[in-house]
Amino acid sequence: MVLRLANSEYEFVLSANKDGRIVVEEEPSQKLVKYDSGTKTPIKNYPSADDVGVTDNARHRASCQNNMKQLGLVFKMYANEQINEYIPGGFRQVYPEYLSDLNILICPGLRDGKVGYQILYPASNDGFWREIFTKVERLPADEYQYQSTVPWIIEKVSCSNEKGRNVLFVDGHAEHIKDKDWDIKMGPYMEYAYN
Ligand SMILES: [Zn+2]
Repeated sequence: MVLRLANSEYEFVLSANKDGRIVVEEEPSQKLVKYDSGTKTPIKNYPSADDVGVTDNARHRASCQNNMKQLGLVFKMYANEQINEYIPGGFRQVYPEYLSDLNILICPGLRDGKVGYQILYPASNDGFWREIFTKVERLPADEYQYQSTVPWIIEKVSCSNEKGRNVLFVDGHAEHIKDKDWDIKMGPYMEYAYN
């Protein structure tokens, strides 16, 4: 038996599970929370995609972008002290001197404890980015606008249920690129990624 109650803000689905317990599914706008009416606790063995659905997507995306912007600052501090201003070959290279809080390497949407971000062109520098820019954009080098065009760091996987990934660009701005735009916007730059 399934009973569906709906109003403008919330939608509930009530159903009985195998042991006869009433299960309530609650779906306020984007969020999806499942809990057991007997124990009043959220049902635990939930797929991770739905766990992500519990988080506030906009807030999550913002804090994920914040992580990336902080990594951008770390890179700039590191670059200032290098010859040729190159970015590090990996995150290990900046820890702990420039990057003291390893938590910013973990995407707040996944909370899986793994490094959530990938440096696209590790140990590269301005000259390399200019080269990529002119190849990808097919523009003369004097129109080089790498700062807002060339990506530095990408999220490894889509961590939000608004399908897409955050990208940090060389100028330090972070942007959420939707999966449907990914190939067009990011594809050509990804071809030059090292791994
Ligand atoms: Zn994220």
